[in-house]
Amino acid sequence: MTPIKMKFGTKAIHAGVEPDPTTGAIMTPIYQTSTYAQPSPGKHKGYEYSRTQNPTRDALQTNLAALENANHGLVFGSGMAAIDAILKLLKPGDEVLSSNDLYGGTYRIFTQIYQDFGIKFKFVDMLDLNRISEHFNDHTRLVWIETPSNPMMNIIDIKGLASVCKKSNALLCVDNTFATPFLQNPIDLGADIVMHSVTKYIAGHSDVVMGALMMNRADLFEKLSFIQNASGAVAGPQDCFLVLRGVKTLHIRMERHCENGRRIAYFLEAHPKVSKVYWPGFEKHQNHDVAKKQMRDFGGMISFVLKDDKLESAISFMEKLKLFTLAESLGGVESLVGHPASMTHASIPREERLKSGLKDSLIRLSVGIEDAEDLVDDLEQALG
Ligand SMILES: *Cc1c(COP(=O)(O)O)cnc(C)c1O
Repeated sequence: MTPIKMKFGTKAIHAGVEPDPTTGAIMTPIYQTSTYAQPSPGKHKGYEYSRTQNPTRDALQTNLAALENANHGLVFGSGMAAIDAILKLLKPGDEVLSSNDLYGGTYRIFTQIYQDFGIKFKFVDMLDLNRISEHFNDHTRLVWIETPSNPMMNIIDIKGLASVCKKSNALLCVDNTFATPFLQNPIDLGADIVMHSVTKYIAGHSDVVMGALMMNRADLFEKLSFIQNASGAVAGPQDCFLVLRGVKTLHIRMERHCENGRRIAYFLEAHPKVSKVYWPGFEKHQNHDVAKKQMRDFGGMISFVLKDDKLESAISFMEKLKLFTLAESLGGVESLVGHPASMTHASIPREERLKSGLKDSLIRLSVGIEDAEDLVDDLEQALG
């Protein structure tokens, strides 16, 4: 598609997707094939083997790149496979500077896999950028952040950090899973690579596991697509089709996630049994001003702690919920509740978790797009 300038919702529906040339099918077909006929050796139509290229995957890669205002997109078998591909850009001796509040699986691949290959990881507080340059040295190749972070909902100033990274010649990669491209576009703010767990909001229906990378730089795209093909953790055509379908409503779903999230954040904040609510939309949130500057709204992820700050009380609350399902993951149409300390963040040692404020009693909500009244009623009865 070579459109005039498209806005977000139009891109979500049209970017990368054209009627199928042979039949006119509106939806990109699921090209469930491993290989492609060649009339003569080397003479093909751009498709040789499905680890390297697949038309359904191409359509999705183009679509997701457009949503992040990026020139290039690549999709992988999971968010972790996408992170794995980025780490393969590094060599022994290189250092990674990472924010200290992040998804447990990311912490795990850093410290339990790539550290053994001679890459160093430093976890630092990036909420205040005044002293961030102290942490850089000649070996710092990559800076890794999540904003909003999982699960503390911390906000890091992407534009400010991007300018520090440029001076030090380090790549800045932003895990944009929580915000989605609808709320925040890190490449526009100076980031080099945007990473997504597509599994979450982008797919949006809790039926696919997938990851994505988006970038502007042609040299990075070339290296990362080489790694995608060489290592082979590609997303299959059936899953790409499901995401192409899910992504068409991303803008509509996000509007409702934000609306419901706001409603529930204020409900919890006012509730006598709740002591602290983590949500970047509150004016008193530490980096609310940065969030307001770099995000269009504040999303549907909320963490909180009960006044009765005991693990048993948090567990009993989660067990009483009827609409919110206790499960790993987030970003689907249905509301979920999670216990980060024993679920998504169990692979981070307790002392490390506590440093970033992640207590055993912390509860995380992924607010879905049901009717807000029903969600509030459910929380109310479980708070008791
Ligand atoms: C889920 C998640 C990941 C990992 O993605 P998978 O698709 O589960 O492999 C990475 N970062 C964040 C913020 C996540 O929530």
